Formats: sequence, C-alpha cells, structure tokens
Amino acid sequence: MSDPPPDCLRCGACCHSPAERFVRVTGADWARLGDAAERVAHFIGRGHEAYMKMTAGHCIALEIRPTDDGAPEYFCTLYDRRPQICRDLARGSPECAGERTVKATCARTI
Ligand code: SF4
Ligand code: SF4
Repeated sequence: MSDPPPDCLRCGACCHSPAERFVRVTGADWARLGDAAERVAHFIGRGHEAYMKMTAGHCIALEIRPTDDGAPEYFCTLYDRRPQICRDLARGSPECAGERTVKATCARTI
C-alpha cells in the first residue's frame, strides 16, 4: 500500500462504505453531536445501536467538494463533533492503510 496522502481532505476512504452500519455512534458520540444528532445519526436494527446515516456510499456528514486542481476534497462537516471511531482512525495507521486498500476501487467521485 502506498503512503497515505499528506492530508485526509484528499482521501476520504474511511468515510465511505456501502454498509448501513458503518460509523458507530455511542451515547457519548450522540451527546457530542448535539443538535445535529437527530439529523445525521439514527438507531437501526433492534433500535439499541446508533450509526451515522449513509448516503451515496458515504457518511452523511461528508461533503465532497470540487477544487481548482480538479481533484475532489473530502470534507467532514462535523469534524469537531465526529464520533470517537473516526477520531481513533489515525492517518498512516494500519487501519488507515486497510481502509485505503479496501476502498481503492470505490466510487469516490463528485
Ligand atoms: S485516515 Fe487514512 S483512510 Fe481516512 S481519510 Fe485519512 S488517509 Fe484516508
Ligand atoms: S463523521 Fe466525519 S470523519 Fe466520521 S465518517 Fe462521517 S464524514 Fe468521515
């Protein structure tokens, strides 16, 4: 696997998944999300576990923006309030490499 990009804004792999249960939202995460929680997260399955809503193959909080150089920018609109699982995934970690490998062929386009 290649080195990670110098900036997560140029990657966004770990914000993408076709799975509905992808970004777990704990009680503490829900509280941190504050007034955005009901909009971006929901309880699914038996109703005891909350996850970030997914749309178009990525977390609903992800905004994909065009840039002047033509490459998209992957911007977390809730960065300061993002769930703990997102905080724990460090750029350059084995988990980051795994995400970039698995998502190498996903449609990360505008
Ligand atoms: S943490 Fe890794 S997989 Fe996630 S956006 Fe940054 S470089 Fe990409
Ligand atoms: S909350 Fe932000 S960092 Fe976490 S998956 Fe969604 S867009 Fe990515």
